[in-house]
Amino acid sequence: MPELPEVETVRQGLEPVMRGCRFVHVTQRRKDLRFPLPERFAERLVGRKVERLDRRAKYILIHLDGAEVLAVHLGMTGRFSVELPRTPSPRKRGEGTQLGDYTYEHGHDAKHDHLVFEMSGGARVTFNDARRFGYMTLIPEKDLASDAFFRGLGVEPLGADLDPAYLARRALGKKTDLKAFLMDQRIVAGLGNIYVCEALLRAGLSPFKPAARLATRTGRSTPSADRLVPAIKAVLQDAIRAGGSTLRDYKRADGSVGAFQNEFQVYGREGEPCARGGCRGIVRRKTQGGRSTFYCPACQR
Ligand SMILES: [Zn+2]
Repeated sequence: MPELPEVETVRQGLEPVMRGCRFVHVTQRRKDLRFPLPERFAERLVGRKVERLDRRAKYILIHLDGAEVLAVHLGMTGRFSVELPRTPSPRKRGEGTQLGDYTYEHGHDAKHDHLVFEMSGGARVTFNDARRFGYMTLIPEKDLASDAFFRGLGVEPLGADLDPAYLARRALGKKTDLKAFLMDQRIVAGLGNIYVCEALLRAGLSPFKPAARLATRTGRSTPSADRLVPAIKAVLQDAIRAGGSTLRDYKRADGSVGAFQNEFQVYGREGEPCARGGCRGIVRRKTQGGRSTFYCPACQR
């Protein structure tokens, strides 16, 4: 399941080959992904110019001329691959330099290539999704905030809106545990299991304590909140950086992105020594809210 850093890495991979370009040809091989694709989807994209790409939570937002947005969710196995034409010889279908394969799962089966975008800059952008939990939709720019997919989403973790004061305000009086609080998309959008575990380790906070510890009785931020915010941002930024650097070197279609998984300090490390300097704890795993929580009982308090 891609988390925010993986989605951001994909966005960064698509940006140079899509921004400022028009859709010259769109091949649509199915009527639906997880949900039905918009009516006359291919027809509506052809000729449109991509003005910019940004991201909201785990959605890639491709802003088109005509004040419409192509919103893309990768689901569990959605991936894009980008091919650039070999220059200067004319290009045949499917032939070209593999620029990048923005993915985190192994293998590529062409029968799951559901959409192919041929861009005016020459790039061929293919969306492949074996399990089809991904989806795409067209939303008028002005309806973005009120759209069912986006309404009620919390702040962006990498944005300025996530600060200790915000967390304290939302945590005030909350009996829910800290991990569930951070996983709640209405509070912080796009944070998932892995990066919540990592951020809590970096901040030295127990996933099991009530979220209310982030706030004083009057709703101001506590030192815990002050430590947690930079930990969340740093872990995401490090992961984005690792993903990006992998992508730049990535020329083959058989590997996976996600070099950051080698840098997890707590996630997936049950039984290993704690990675924090000076800590002699051993990482433990516990099921919490149906998901595995990895934590260090010695330094996360
Ligand atoms: Zn520790």
